[in-house]
Amino acid sequence: MISVDTATKIVADVIKPLPPKTLSFESALGLCLAEDVQSDIDMPPFDRSAMDGYAVIAADTADAPIELAVIEDIAAGHMPTKKVLHGQAAKIMTGAAVPAGADAVIKFEETEDLPTNNRVKILRPIDRGRNISKRGEDIRIGQTVLHKGMPIRPQEIGILATVGKQRVTVFSPPMVGIISTGDELVDIVSQPSIAQIRNSNGYSLSAQASRMKAEVEILGIVKDTKEEISNMMRRGLEKDIIILSGGVSMGEYDLVGDVMKDLNTHIYFEKVALRPGKPVIFGKKDKTFIFALPGNPVASFVTFELFIYPAIRRMMGFADIHRDTLKASLETEILVRRKRREYRPAFIRTQNGTWLVSPVEWHGSADLLATTRANCLLIVREDAEKLATGQLVDVIPLE
Ligand code: AMP
Ligand code: MG
Repeated sequence: MISVDTATKIVADVIKPLPPKTLSFESALGLCLAEDVQSDIDMPPFDRSAMDGYAVIAADTADAPIELAVIEDIAAGHMPTKKVLHGQAAKIMTGAAVPAGADAVIKFEETEDLPTNNRVKILRPIDRGRNISKRGEDIRIGQTVLHKGMPIRPQEIGILATVGKQRVTVFSPPMVGIISTGDELVDIVSQPSIAQIRNSNGYSLSAQASRMKAEVEILGIVKDTKEEISNMMRRGLEKDIIILSGGVSMGEYDLVGDVMKDLNTHIYFEKVALRPGKPVIFGKKDKTFIFALPGNPVASFVTFELFIYPAIRRMMGFADIHRDTLKASLETEILVRRKRREYRPAFIRTQNGTWLVSPVEWHGSADLLATTRANCLLIVREDAEKLATGQLVDVIPLE
């Protein structure tokens, strides 16, 4: 049995990014850039007014209040046609190009329109350069604006749009196939008989992988026979990752490990010192990585977050592949069971700027409903002696 840290390190080491592919920039949200992106323009593209007001020569306003002649109106999207000379001003809107001659924009609130034709009163002096964004001050033409390895979030989508990058090269998200094993499982459309339960893992695992932008297919339910498991696993070998749930414990019908070995899967580990989720198998057959998770719904949920989350992040090209943890202060004491690291559904909240955490009521690894009352996993380290109220513990926030 290996530790959680050793197991996650193995996953991080053996998995590599998938080859890049090029797609429309709008489809790239949540993926990882596989190229550097340069700008084809300066931003702003011209000296731009940051305010609605009057473009003036700052020196003219030194003895304000003063009056200036208004020579034109400049709206955003239109170029000025006249140069501003001493004694003159041009009315200008936010986002419009500042006319030649002018070196400051004074906002409307600091001016007064005069009833006399086309004159404005400037109420106070203004410094040179005020309210003008200089051409190229944000982005220079040719500048690398986004770098390989960056996550594409809404703000990166905006930059791709700014520089007109319609197609972008990203690391491919993995194709993931999900197999649920168990004679007792029926699909969710069925009313389970007394000895049956609905296949919830297939759907929760699919949701966990989909929200990471993996391309998920639920391959379905198989009975606890070597033949069914093996046939479905072979079907899944076209995927980058196969996730199985159930059939990995010590029971008579726990056949997933045997089938993986019969198919000559290379096994990296098959037991991790973890609670819930000890019997988790990680292997590779041809190009496909196989994760076989325990069937209990919380165990399947937790082992996904611990091992498959970093696996998918690595395949997607991200440098930073693990879930963030934060330190929170325990609101109640916790009994420590030692030897295996524990992950407990818990609730964090802030009070006066510090994080407080308390475990939610939980009946063990089958009690998925408890996780709906949780917003984090509380980590009880294998070397913890005792966890007292007020002690700092690590938690993994769950969105
Ligand atoms: P196993 O790991 O196959 O021994 O299953 C452990 C427990 O998890 C059993 O109570 C199973 O009925 C339950 N279980 C297995 N697979 C699923 C699934 N796909 N959805 C919900 N519960 C499951
Ligand atoms: Mg089973």
